[in-house]
Amino acid sequence: LRIIKTDSELHIDVHALHHQIQVDRAAGYTPFLIIATGGTTGAGAIDPINEIANLAEREHLWLHVDAAYGGASVFAPEMLDLLHGIDRADSITFDAHKWMSVPMGAGIYITRHKDILHRTFSITADYMPKEGLIWM
Ligand SMILES: *Cc1c(COP(=O)(O)O)cnc(C)c1O
Repeated sequence: LRIIKTDSELHIDVHALHHQIQVDRAAGYTPFLIIATGGTTGAGAIDPINEIANLAEREHLWLHVDAAYGGASVFAPEMLDLLHGIDRADSITFDAHKWMSVPMGAGIYITRHKDILHRTFSITADYMPKEGLIWM
């Protein structure tokens, strides 16, 4: 796990991120994932997601955006630009129990890679209910 420095407005420093990837590769590590933030809970800071998506694409890394807190902003036209580039993420987490006011825990994981999701959640056991599983 590498924690990348942020600028004075708490946005991830994309150059530092790129540098860390190069340093880790040179040391024999295999970076595979970048996690960007689509709105921190305490400060509301949003990483430059589109810029990070460019880097992830160039470096062939999975881009996950933690939009648990700020994800609902995509539903408001005047806030759409805040998460610019989130549509390029490999996966996103989004919490309906925050801005959407769903009164129970409703964490949502979204990915464009259906095969991975299916493999992760397709383990069956006799004691698991068969009904109620919905695959979209
Ligand atoms: C709330 C939150 C999470 C995860 O919270 P859960 O309620 O456990 O789903 C993760 N990241 C951010 C930025 C959050 O605000």
